[in-house]
Amino acid sequence: MAELLKGAPVAAALTEAYRARAEALRARGVAPALAFVRVGAREDDLAYERAARRRCEQIGIETRTLALPENAPREELLDALRTLGGDASVHGLLLFRPLPEGFDEAAACAAIPPEKDVDGVSPASMAALYADAPEGFAPCTAEACLALLRYYRVPLEGAHALVIGRSLVIGKPAALLLLRENATVTVAHSRTRELGALCRAADVVLVAAGRAGLIGAEHLRSGQTVVDVGIHALPDGALCGDVRFAEAEPLARAITPVPGGVGAVTAAVLCGHVLRAAERLSE
Ligand code: NAD
Repeated sequence: MAELLKGAPVAAALTEAYRARAEALRARGVAPALAFVRVGAREDDLAYERAARRRCEQIGIETRTLALPENAPREELLDALRTLGGDASVHGLLLFRPLPEGFDEAAACAAIPPEKDVDGVSPASMAALYADAPEGFAPCTAEACLALLRYYRVPLEGAHALVIGRSLVIGKPAALLLLRENATVTVAHSRTRELGALCRAADVVLVAAGRAGLIGAEHLRSGQTVVDVGIHALPDGALCGDVRFAEAEPLARAITPVPGGVGAVTAAVLCGHVLRAAERLSE
């Protein structure tokens, strides 16, 4: 039986530590605050916003939402981001993506000031991550994977980690964060050959391919740690990941469930970033 790497205890431990930091900020007259910026109302975005708002409430972070209609002029979004960027009462900015068609996503990400870019989407945040510079914020989902591995004391130093996926949101930043932990990192993607051999060679397999049930028994060997970032809604409404859990679980040493794994940690990591932004901005 694999150890189940559940997200809830990780999120609870982070929440506990963050409450004290939020309290310390308030004692100095700083009310940490996060602004969500949303264009339209995608169900995924609304669900994450609800979860993040709940987590913020538990910790003592104020939230507000700026929601624009899908047909808003693209300049309005940039103006809103610049206004919030210059608002001293807001410490973190989270822009929901993908943006509806017609919006310039690169320009919107670049309009978020790096010091408030709590989801690591601006070019400055990416550069900081690449350079191991302390001032940047990594994308929350990628960092949630690392928070989870750290909490469950999965050895990373010298371990071979395979990251499946190379998106800017998860695959690439997760690979860089694993490298920072002194893992030996391989990145696989849609053009990779011999995915099974690469998977079996790894000690830690982090799957962020966005393909339901891509990884199964034929890719894995016993004793591995499997982190499944994928989330997919099945026709019956149930959720599943990129890994066929029923096949992987008997083989793995440790594995994240879906739902209840990485996804449960992401909002807590976001809150940690808001606190760090507020601490720095108020120094
Ligand atoms: P994406 O589509 O942007 O990127 C997927 C990556 O996987 C690409 O780099 C692609 O090359 C690679 N890939 C696709 N098919 C592959 C294959 N057959 N073999 C190897 N590599 C393959 O997706 P994303 O935004 O990185 O998200 C990945 C998954 O994570 C999605 O299922 C998404 O829903 C989920 N997600 C989870 C959370 C969370 O909090 N748990 C947050 C965001 C996204």
